[in-house]
Amino acid sequence: MKEKIINIVANSSYESRKIKQKLIKLLKDNGYTPSKNFNPDAELNVCIGGDGTFINAVHKNNFTKIPTVGINTGHLGFYQEVSPDKLEKFIEDYNNGDYSIEELKLVEAEIFTRNKSLILSGVNEIVLKAKHSKIIHTNVYVNRNFLEKFSGDGLLISTPSGSTAYNFSCNGSLVHHSLEVMQMTPIAPINSVVYRSLTSPIIIPGSYTISLVPEKRYANSNLLLVDGKEYFFNNLKKINLKLSNRKINKLVFSQDSYWENLRDKFL
Ligand code: NAP
Repeated sequence: MKEKIINIVANSSYESRKIKQKLIKLLKDNGYTPSKNFNPDAELNVCIGGDGTFINAVHKNNFTKIPTVGINTGHLGFYQEVSPDKLEKFIEDYNNGDYSIEELKLVEAEIFTRNKSLILSGVNEIVLKAKHSKIIHTNVYVNRNFLEKFSGDGLLISTPSGSTAYNFSCNGSLVHHSLEVMQMTPIAPINSVVYRSLTSPIIIPGSYTISLVPEKRYANSNLLLVDGKEYFFNNLKKINLKLSNRKINKLVFSQDSYWENLRDKFL
């Protein structure tokens, strides 16, 4: 019979380590083979911690197609579907196939410097900022149409599932995960007779390309944040952003979990 492998990652908190031990025993009792290292032949990834643990795991596993489910031992746990006191119910529902798969979109940035180009992807968001808390001055195009010369602290491009994260703190809208869109949200835009920047977030179709072209004199002072991780580039020419063709599969056990999450975690 084919082995039923389940990958388990946990953060280092006492609670997470305790839950991990309990889960490993329950999984073995139910005929599964838990794996503490990422096994590409697994049928499921279980991620124990908060949203940070979920985000780190999907980056580390190179946005694998293997479905992921989160057990929330963190603070907020927007991505974390299962409560630690409902492990038995989780295994029962999983055994019975009482779940559905939700696709999480990724935002993808193609970065062009004078010498190279590379692609980075984010689950929550990609943010263009400046080093040393300086202002950014960047031209913004949507499908090659010039939109604005933005001046301010930064421009944040979020996925629907990332709309509840940094985007929300910057007055961005909450966007349902089923929508194939990106949101471009300004961070502290300057709007004066000297600088004219849009002050409102814009929702843009995910297949469109947002191009950020920093002014030449700022080409060496940029900072890119991808799900909170910092990247610096010299001679930055342009960043093209769109929703990626790759998606993450997340297990959900309640069709109403999106609305329950908003209510329970924000109100
Ligand atoms: P962190 O400092 O541990 O996380 C910041 C907070 O954001 C945590 O409470 C985390 O939840 C929560 N969070 C992450 N993704 C979320 C989502 N999709 N919806 C709602 N809340 C979410 O840093 P981290 O764990 O490495 O996470 C990086 C993320 O922090 C970035 O992607 C960015 O969205 C967010 N961030 C927010 C601000 C801000 O709001 N001003 C500033 C910088 C970064 P848990 O407690 O469950 O981990």
